[in-house]
Amino acid sequence: MNLHEYQGKKILNSFGVRIQRGKVASNYKEAVEDAKLLSKETGTQWWVVKAQIHAGGRGKGGGVKLAKSIEDVEKYSKEIIGMMLKTPQTPPQGKKVNQVLIAEDVYYPGESEPEEYYMSVLMNRATGRNMVMYSTEGGMDIESVADKTPHLIFTEEIDPATGILPFQARKIAFNLGLSGAAFKDMTKFVTALYKAYVGSDASLFEINPVLKTSDNKILAVDAKVVLDNNALYRHKDYMELRDLREENPIEVEANAAGLNYVDLDGNVGCMVNGAGLAMSTMDLIKQSGGEPANFLDVGGTADAERVETGFRIILKDPNVKAILVNIFGGIVRCDRVAQGIVDAYKNMGDAIKIPIIVRLQGTNAKEAKELIDKSGLDVISVVEFQEAADMVQKVLS
Ligand code: GDP
Ligand code: MN
Repeated sequence: MNLHEYQGKKILNSFGVRIQRGKVASNYKEAVEDAKLLSKETGTQWWVVKAQIHAGGRGKGGGVKLAKSIEDVEKYSKEIIGMMLKTPQTPPQGKKVNQVLIAEDVYYPGESEPEEYYMSVLMNRATGRNMVMYSTEGGMDIESVADKTPHLIFTEEIDPATGILPFQARKIAFNLGLSGAAFKDMTKFVTALYKAYVGSDASLFEINPVLKTSDNKILAVDAKVVLDNNALYRHKDYMELRDLREENPIEVEANAAGLNYVDLDGNVGCMVNGAGLAMSTMDLIKQSGGEPANFLDVGGTADAERVETGFRIILKDPNVKAILVNIFGGIVRCDRVAQGIVDAYKNMGDAIKIPIIVRLQGTNAKEAKELIDKSGLDVISVVEFQEAADMVQKVLS
């Protein structure tokens, strides 16, 4: 589950990670109130108005603005709330901004220049350990740093059994070129950050930039936090952080119906039981010259209701030119699935205007094929995997 910056920061803060403080607003009036309150609480003279969407690169897209007066806060909030913000990480049409974070200005002048670093915590699947990735080249696109100057990106592997050790925190602060108070504060920062990552069951923390302020404090200016859905049951209070407005509406509907559905860009919809079979069916579609329009695993109980929901969801995608149903009847008998398909088709009246290819294999496959062939519906039944592939090719051409 992806979080907004302001939600991620709240979690960081709850584990003792220092953050750029702020308040979230849904309209410019709230934004102005927030700015005034924030000044009382933090003493800040300037504010940063930051668009809250599930995508990075907001600054370059015009979604992060420095406000030097309350009038600026009002102006920028009006401008940003409701806009379609386009960044390299959004779809081409951009993403609608529903909220802004009014944050304190932390780039104030002082005894030294503020410095930006990059830091993330994630799992290294190759070693089965967590790792802290960090770089002196913060504030910019880390992918291009990795591309052009890979030697400026460091990683520190953390044994999950011991957690981050003091010498590791010191090594990180040293490699970032810090000394004195900032060095000490960085060791605290990274230690708390690692604890927050483990404690919140996150799968990714990406803080870009981590800032050294002009008075040598280390804090998180930005926060990309991805939580592990499989661990959400342990964090009931995090569940409400889900923002459905940021998610694909078809996926939201499918997931609510208990279907494992991922929207893709292609033209052949597929309905399959079992994730492995779904993956190989997607390969098959690609080999036949098509592109899968989705990943859909209807699970073990492919009854009429689930099949119908599956069809309805696939048909919401206007790019779909054909549907391939590929179901293995192990526990669920093929004839029951076939009946489900026939019933669903009939229930849907004339909603289905594209060819449907059905391959049912396993228990009672023969009966299932007969059932479909005799139904008089515009459904093509095939037996072999290759036949299914050929048929996909044929209906697309
Ligand atoms: P992103 O563009 O989506 O990654 O958003 P960030 O939260 O990283 O902010 C983008 C940029 O805005 C930062 O790299 C800073 O240069 C700038 N910025 C963020 N906070 C402040 C602030 O408090 N004061 C000033 N002057 N600039 C800020
Ligand atoms: Mn950033």
